Amino acid sequence: MKKYLVVANFKMKLASKNEIETWLKNFSKASKAFFSEKVETVLCTPYPFLEKFSEITKKDEFLLGAQNCFWEDEGAYTGEVSAKMLKSMGVDFVILGHSERRKYFDEQNLEIARKVEKAFKNRIIPIICVGENREEKENDLTMKVVLKQLQDILEKVGRGNIEKTILCYEPIWAISDNGPNRMSTSNEIMEARLLIKKFLVDKYGQLTAERVKIIYGGSVDNFNVEETCIKTGMEGALVGSVSTKPYEFIKIIEKFNEK
Ligand code: PEP
Repeated sequence: MKKYLVVANFKMKLASKNEIETWLKNFSKASKAFFSEKVETVLCTPYPFLEKFSEITKKDEFLLGAQNCFWEDEGAYTGEVSAKMLKSMGVDFVILGHSERRKYFDEQNLEIARKVEKAFKNRIIPIICVGENREEKENDLTMKVVLKQLQDILEKVGRGNIEKTILCYEPIWAISDNGPNRMSTSNEIMEARLLIKKFLVDKYGQLTAERVKIIYGGSVDNFNVEETCIKTGMEGALVGSVSTKPYEFIKIIEKFNEK
């Protein structure tokens, strides 16, 4: 049975050692005796806190993730962090192509593709974000934009790795920090999911397509997770703001676990 995947993206919201320690303390309390055969939880923390988080991800069923990586393994790249370094810290997942990376660091599909390649080379599973912005949505360009992102980013990924890839449909306008004036509807999410599935089937065949996990991100919380992620056939969620609140975050995991 395929497990649901719930991914916490703390961004830079837990911004000090103290805040991290408080989060970990509360999360340990909230998740006490919590065990799920149905859900895998990935905690994507900023680089400086990877070691701290690896203490809980080593002993519990929580997995360690990062929020970015560089496209080379090593060398004269001041300030960068490679997938090879992340692997040596025990990281198993990395978020790539997040819209905030595209917006503030001008990341393009081709760079993201190189990062994906390096992640796989280092046995790290990429969680690849795709999705349209508000303007593209208003101009009915969702399908075009998402397909182009998939096409470019997955270009060099071999079939063996495609099935391990996690794809996250995350409409940029629905991210809580972008002040969404409405949530994505179940229909919109379902439509995007089908489009991504069809792309995968056409390109890699039914069997491979079935193995790829597609998750949803964008203002997911305990109250809307049923509508946004479960009813729509998504296989998990990428959770930003709410992941910084351990008790709320665990409720989302529990919702998947009840299914
Ligand atoms: C995100 O930006 O990846 C995200 C899921 O954010 P939020 O849940 O806060 O919308």
